[in-house]
Amino acid sequence: MTEEKKTQYGDPMTYPFWEAAAQHRLIIQHCKRCGSHQFYPRPFCVKCATGEVEWVETKGDGTIYSLTTVRVQISPAFNPPYNVALVQLDEGPRMLTDIEGINAKIGDRVKLTWRERTDAPPLPVWIPA
Ligand SMILES: [Zn+2]
Repeated sequence: MTEEKKTQYGDPMTYPFWEAAAQHRLIIQHCKRCGSHQFYPRPFCVKCATGEVEWVETKGDGTIYSLTTVRVQISPAFNPPYNVALVQLDEGPRMLTDIEGINAKIGDRVKLTWRERTDAPPLPVWIPA
């Protein structure tokens, strides 16, 4: 990506995430010292405070940790009903997303898919497994 896209899609901390997303690869950070995973990206591990964090690819399998169904139109960009959820990846981190499929519920297993966008990199979203 060009420098222009780097600034358009995120700061240097989030740039690797969006670069991987453009290739339909979901990456999260892994601590080389304590082995924990984290998302969103930070320059240090939130568990042990070391700066020895690296990006690793995840398959994106997870479980719905929390979920609500939005039934009122808040923005013209989003047509209700739709789900807003926290997905807990098998590696541990939770990601805010929507769940495609209105009948999803907390505890359901989900798998990663990608929503293409014309003005930005693909967006990771989850569907029932
Ligand atoms: Zn750590």
